[in-house]
Amino acid sequence: MFSSVLIANRGEIACRIIRTARRLGMRTIAVHSDADADALFVRDADEAYAIGPAPARESYLVGSRILEVARDAGADCIHPGYGFLSENAEFAEACAKAGVTFVGPPPSAIRAMGLKDAAKTLVERARVPVVPGYHGHKQDPAFLRERAANIGFPVLIKAVAGGGGKGMRRVDRLIDFEEALLGAQREAANAFGDPRVLVEKYVRSPRHVEMQVFADRHGNVVHLFERDCSLQRRHQKVLEEAPAPGMTAEVRAAMGQAAVDAARAVGYVGAGTVEFIADGSNGLTADSFFFMEMNTRLQVEHPVTEAITGLDLVELQFRVAAGERLPFAQGDLAIQGHAVEARLYAEDPERGFLPSTGRLWALRFPEESDRLRIDTGVAEGDEVSPFYDPMIAKVIAHGDTRAQALDRLADALARTVVAGPRSNVAFLEALCRAPEFRAGRFDTGFIDRNLEALGATARPFPAAAAAAGALALVGQAVRRSIAAAAVASGGAPSPWDAADGFQLSGERQIGLPLLIEGERLDAVLGWDAEGPSVELPGHAVPPGSHELDIVETEDGLIVLDHGRQTHVRLFDALDMSFDEADAGGVVKAPMHGKVVALFVTEGETVEKGQKLAIVEAMKMEHALVAPRAGVVTEIAVEAGQQTPEGARLIVIGDPD
Ligand code: ADP
Ligand code: ADP
Ligand code: MG
Repeated sequence: MFSSVLIANRGEIACRIIRTARRLGMRTIAVHSDADADALFVRDADEAYAIGPAPARESYLVGSRILEVARDAGADCIHPGYGFLSENAEFAEACAKAGVTFVGPPPSAIRAMGLKDAAKTLVERARVPVVPGYHGHKQDPAFLRERAANIGFPVLIKAVAGGGGKGMRRVDRLIDFEEALLGAQREAANAFGDPRVLVEKYVRSPRHVEMQVFADRHGNVVHLFERDCSLQRRHQKVLEEAPAPGMTAEVRAAMGQAAVDAARAVGYVGAGTVEFIADGSNGLTADSFFFMEMNTRLQVEHPVTEAITGLDLVELQFRVAAGERLPFAQGDLAIQGHAVEARLYAEDPERGFLPSTGRLWALRFPEESDRLRIDTGVAEGDEVSPFYDPMIAKVIAHGDTRAQALDRLADALARTVVAGPRSNVAFLEALCRAPEFRAGRFDTGFIDRNLEALGATARPFPAAAAAAGALALVGQAVRRSIAAAAVASGGAPSPWDAADGFQLSGERQIGLPLLIEGERLDAVLGWDAEGPSVELPGHAVPPGSHELDIVETEDGLIVLDHGRQTHVRLFDALDMSFDEADAGGVVKAPMHGKVVALFVTEGETVEKGQKLAIVEAMKMEHALVAPRAGVVTEIAVEAGQQTPEGARLIVIGDPD
């Protein structure tokens, strides 16, 4: 076994790898970007080395720099985690050349599965069923359009180099094909440096069911059962579980065999996942699932497999990389109970799941147990930075039955507190409790069809939380002034010393200018014998004081109501920005990101709702549309430029 490991990754997965490596007695070596200098995984590791600036391209993706560190620190092996360099065959080769073991499959296997079109051709030869479609080399739009028509709509255009749900467009009608193709190609070129696509049949009632496989260097290949990852948004997994609801022994055997065949076809070694798309309209059957792709690495959702098998997949990865045999055969493996994982993201379900960044003023999880696991990469007080994936943590629950696992997960999420960046915690809890999902009636479209019921649409003004926040702000001001007065007088603090003249008895009313969720509002607070009361102009404050959690921030506070955050602070005259003058026509960056495309030029006439630009952040593209009809009077960015959140990008004015 190795005595040291360099982890070429960050966040939650780096922490998770460190945990197993340490248990196996290895010295753990972290590498980090400047943005991650104080990150949890850096604090966790035995040693840590800076490798470059925040952008991944200049740090986590610079293989040569990472290998330099590996050499200097004397690392025996490199674990790439997932994402970043984990599926980079050149990096795996460079490791071998440098005499350090790459904990992953041989470069040839990575390469064989690296492009979806070539992978489909290859596994098809091994008689693994693939999604019908065109996965040849031709990229001529007219040709692809004709193929799409032959395949029959709906079709899916996919980047051959794709990953993370990027470069993918579903097309329902022939007339929409061309625009979708351009979109997929642009996204693919931008994300993967390769604009090529394939076109395949969009499977009806799609269920994403994948097989975890493991192979050693001695010719043993097994599968560790399936995971169902059908709950997705924009083709990205949100909730994953094992085993798959409705799976039968027969289908499992067929799918397991197909996965093992696919792995054998490329001489696979280590942990890998073979992803299938199943047509779930008649349940899971042995002839209605098709190979989509193979991920030649550890998968984000591997903990659910660990929960139902009792295995540590990272330990197995190390053992296999060190040349050991798999310690079991297929027949030794069995499924114990049911496990579900939820991906907790810093994103705002009420605003189209826009990524959210900033300081985590509060981050609290229920205690872990043998039935509840929390894999996190951040702690309270840390920043969710705009440079990487916005995942905060994974919460994994195990139960004897699916219902029990889902209950445990829902309860754990209900007890999870996130304040600062917006999070999807309440949305995840709603998913776990959704009756249709629990009854096993779902496919990959489930989330999109149920956004409203899951609380993922704009909701009414949070009057109760705003009122609670207003009162708490006054309390905070009083406490702070009492403390300040105490320091000034050098004596014990007393409420009568409060510098701002608040009275603790008698009737009294004050007006309080507030900024609630970024909107200015003048609250009127009153105190009488009954206690405090709050009035908010234009909003009915529900009677009775809510018992809401309050988290203090640097300049105000956050009120928490079942996971929903309301940010409240005192309004400051400096909040008035010059943009207010032409507010209606200013298009600002909704988040920190990169402007990847601009569709308009200065002087152009635009309609309300017209697509103006695309900003990309944290793995996703967001279209910016015109807030009103008019003429583009100003474009303050160029395509390719980074932009901070709130920056003024485009202004629409009146025609001269
Ligand atoms: P999975 O099927 O395992 O979810 P994804 O393709 O979505 O696979 O990627 C796995 C994870 O790897 C992502 O959730 C993300 O955390 C990380 N990742 C992938 N690509 C990148 C990247 N370019 N930069 C940073 N992290 C990445
Ligand atoms: P990525 O590399 O981005 O993970 P995949 O090929 O694995 O790309 O597809 C991602 C998701 O897109 C799948 O999990 C599934 O939900 C959906 N998808 C992919 N192919 C099809 C298809 N042919 N029909 C329906 N849905 C599909
Ligand atoms: Mg995939």
